[in-house]
Amino acid sequence: MAGHNFLFVPGPSNVPNRILRAMAVPMEDHRSVKFPELTHEILTGLKRLFKTTEAHPIVFPSSGTGCWEAALTNCLNSGSRILASRFGQFSHLWCDMGQRLGFDMQILETEWGEGAPVERYHEALAADSQHQIKAVLVCHNETATGVTSDVAAIRRVMNDLGHPALLFVDAVSSLGSIDFRMDEWQVDVCVSGSQKGLMLPAGMGITCVSKKALSTAQACSHPRCYFDYQDMIRSNATGYFPYTPSIPMLYGLRESLRMLDEEGLENIFARHQYLAGGVRAAVQEGWKLALCAKEPQWYSDSVSAIVVPPEFNAAHVIERAFRRYNLALGTGLSKVAGKVFRIGHLGDLNELMLMGAIAGAEMAMLDCNIPVIPGSGVAAASAYWRHHSVPAGLESRK
Ligand SMILES: *Cc1c(COP(=O)(O)O)cnc(C)c1O
Repeated sequence: MAGHNFLFVPGPSNVPNRILRAMAVPMEDHRSVKFPELTHEILTGLKRLFKTTEAHPIVFPSSGTGCWEAALTNCLNSGSRILASRFGQFSHLWCDMGQRLGFDMQILETEWGEGAPVERYHEALAADSQHQIKAVLVCHNETATGVTSDVAAIRRVMNDLGHPALLFVDAVSSLGSIDFRMDEWQVDVCVSGSQKGLMLPAGMGITCVSKKALSTAQACSHPRCYFDYQDMIRSNATGYFPYTPSIPMLYGLRESLRMLDEEGLENIFARHQYLAGGVRAAVQEGWKLALCAKEPQWYSDSVSAIVVPPEFNAAHVIERAFRRYNLALGTGLSKVAGKVFRIGHLGDLNELMLMGAIAGAEMAMLDCNIPVIPGSGVAAASAYWRHHSVPAGLESRK
């Protein structure tokens, strides 16, 4: 098919040509005397990305899910109690993993479309006077529903109560696109991956571990081997890895971190907010449709889940967009299957790329007889972007 595929699932995101080129490298000796230069540049860059001076960034040859498992198996004992909330497919899968690994999961069931229930975390932690809860899980950006949660508020609850549990945060679809602060929020383990805000292929789990989590890990007996933090940190300190790293992924990550530095993290967050604003204008003002996210406080700047009217099937829109217009929209997962389609707006994007997704989604909806006004989404997004000041990352090319 002529023209390029419009990839607007919220991950994998588009890989910029600059990163693709950086990854096209011959293989080399990962135990050479020169190799530590690459490792050190990456680890230093990751500290800036996580906003930490204290914690240890780690990359695993896995996807984000591997880092979930690493967090649970390194820092907890078998059967430990974990407090979590479930309000979408990704927060669900982390809870499910905890159960399958034999932890005692205390789950705050929350409506899909809402964010992490801060007050209910407070109640649950306040009731735990014996400090049985050893870890608190929060999904920063629930990619299934397009909901961002207030991690800082959960940390405040823990501090106000003096609760010593570790705080684990899933930032797979927020790191590098929505503000995340490892040190300020006293996050103990942040879990992320390569294929979303970092604009890389999938295949690398990217995580960051606090000093407190590491010292807890030393006294924890849950079996782990491949994902052992200490093995990795000991090896990384000398510039190497305990097993063979993926060399193209490391060069790609180095390039990604250089690009993030050049644009500046705060500029990147502002660009994502601005681009998301245009998408939300298309959905709400243009198409007169609802977002799955129930309140503006939860609107995600990296992905929007759009609810189709109840008499229509969102899967048909997604199929039509893919087959007819070469546009990949995100599918509705689990509970919201058939009810929503998603537009990922994270990573290497600008207004006109997003216009492709908005126009294509609109055409596909019209083809499925969903009564949106032709051109209304594009008009609303264009009005939004034309009337908002341009973020630094989108200023015209020099
Ligand atoms: C994509 C995603 C994951 C899963 O990551 P994989 O890299 O596919 O293992 C976990 N959590 C969230 C919030 C995600 O968006």
